[in-house]
Amino acid sequence: MKIGFIGLGNMGGPMAANLAAEGHDVIGFDMADVSIQGVTMAASGAEAATGADVVITMLPNGQILRAVADQVIPAMTAGAALVDCSTVDVDSARAVAEKCTAAGLLFVDAPVSGGIGGASAGTLTFMAGGSTDAFAAAKPLFDIMGQKAVHCGEAGAGQAAKICNNMILGVTMIATCEAFALADKLGLDRQKMFDVVSTSSGYSWTMNAYCPAPGVGPQSPSDNGYQPGFAAELMLKDLRLSQQAAQSADADTPMGELAQALYAQFVENEDGTGMDFSAMLPRFEKRSRG
Ligand code: NAD
Repeated sequence: MKIGFIGLGNMGGPMAANLAAEGHDVIGFDMADVSIQGVTMAASGAEAATGADVVITMLPNGQILRAVADQVIPAMTAGAALVDCSTVDVDSARAVAEKCTAAGLLFVDAPVSGGIGGASAGTLTFMAGGSTDAFAAAKPLFDIMGQKAVHCGEAGAGQAAKICNNMILGVTMIATCEAFALADKLGLDRQKMFDVVSTSSGYSWTMNAYCPAPGVGPQSPSDNGYQPGFAAELMLKDLRLSQQAAQSADADTPMGELAQALYAQFVENEDGTGMDFSAMLPRFEKRSRG
């Protein structure tokens, strides 16, 4: 298959390398000067998209996705598929889907879960939105880059699933961190706290698999000085997307709103920039109630 791949950063780079390693003809483009094992670099997004069966994008946000889509859609062959794996707002995903349909192209929004480790290992989870035909066109590539692909519904459904998942993740991480900080102040040993909660009704992915307290639970960014991992500013971006969606859908999401405010405070006014999103724990430890 001929694949155009646009956006070869922390996530896109290893995803494109995995497709090339499976024998696909991968033509890449990135604004930055990058080189990826097995990927032939093009001079523009349009050049990478020309003659491709599938074009994959892995970009920072919806505004950039819309701009890139305007360049690549006219260069693509009718019947080809545009697969956006970035995390973007639902409206941008639907707007690009409409442009693809008008141009006779298939479109899938397919944001991922699994982070940089999953991108390198080819174990990402894809949550996809689009027609059955569009999902079928992308599925063989999801099978190379990931271990699971869920077809969530029509265009935009993948982004909807992603932002709902990450709203739960952000809220749960904050709850886990504030509980650890309370336990510390109550004189509870951290290992005992982990042993109880990880096997009790307070268990969660943030406690059991990504524990924000160093030295307890499996290895996580807390054991590495809170180097990301999943950066606090990316969590803030995703929480903002969920609140933007809640606003336009008229959904009441008070916990998501509070999580957004706390991550905004952490990233913009405290020392959260460049830290993993689990660094909320040392943040709570420094604070007192008043
Ligand atoms: P990144 O910043 O490392 O990569 C983005 C790449 O896009 C960069 O190389 C940049 O040069 C390129 N780019 C920007 N504008 C461009 C343009 N107009 N044309 C071509 N290339 C352009 O970011 P990342 O960590 O790879 O994340 C990409 C997407 O994946 C984001 O939407 C992010 O929210 C999502 N995501 C990231 C993670 C993670 O753990 N990093 C996990 C899940 C989802």
